[in-house]
Amino acid sequence: MNIIKPGDLVDLNDYAPDFTGAYEKKGQTKRRLKKLHKQLLKLQELLYAGNQHALLIILQGMDTCGKDGTIRRVMAGMNVQGCDVVSFKVPSTDELSRDFLWRAHRAVPPKGKIGIFNRSHYEDVLVVRVHSLVPEDIWSQHYQQINDFEKMLVESGTVVLKFFLHISKDEQKARLESRISDPTKHWKVMESDVRERAYWDDYMQAYEVMLQKCSTDWAPWHVIPANKKWYRNLVITECIVETLRKLDMRYPEPSVDITKFTIGD
Ligand code: ADP
Repeated sequence: MNIIKPGDLVDLNDYAPDFTGAYEKKGQTKRRLKKLHKQLLKLQELLYAGNQHALLIILQGMDTCGKDGTIRRVMAGMNVQGCDVVSFKVPSTDELSRDFLWRAHRAVPPKGKIGIFNRSHYEDVLVVRVHSLVPEDIWSQHYQQINDFEKMLVESGTVVLKFFLHISKDEQKARLESRISDPTKHWKVMESDVRERAYWDDYMQAYEVMLQKCSTDWAPWHVIPANKKWYRNLVITECIVETLRKLDMRYPEPSVDITKFTIGD
């Protein structure tokens, strides 16, 4: 995993999507992941009990990069009552009639909760830029507007964790082909996935600019090597646990004098 420092120039060729750190295969990570899931559950309870912070997890990446799989695996270690997932699709007419951050802001989790964005307001500097869906003088303002928005969230008690799931073009091809050859995955085959693949280089450039301009002290981007799903799940879970741990949360004092409490028969 790599954290982009504010002001860093980013060339995604420098980040190997196949990287698996000290591990060679999935089996080596299972015990660690199980342990992390236990810690995550406890930390999530503290987050809820303390009611001082919210955690917003943002997942971005090319089609088939594994956003859905990550959500499934990370949420397997959480209490689902304290976690909401929001998917950002092509904006509706209503959403388009507002500022681009409106739908993101209303989906931000409240204090005590974890929210996961499957895609996010970053689509407004990705697909919108690649396909010129709005004029350049409009989308080029979005970077600063996003930074200001996220700063306000952080100052209001929301921790913002941003993960770019980095897969290679070959890996995407293999994943799309496996969907085509497996009848149980045919429902996942989208014409748009194949169409967007043709814009791979434009997307890489848009991602590089996004990582450069929107990695801030208050909400840095994490580049996750995502060709190996098991490694992706491990590092993301590690990062979430580490982030929650750093909040140094404590159970709140009881609102009543517990010593005076007796439970009747
Ligand atoms: P996913 O690929 O995330 O599983 P979909 O197949 O429904 O889900 O794709 C959602 C689509 O919505 C993507 O192509 C994405 O680029 C598009 N989208 C999301 N936000 C915007 C936006 N602000 N403007 C235009 N398109 C968007």
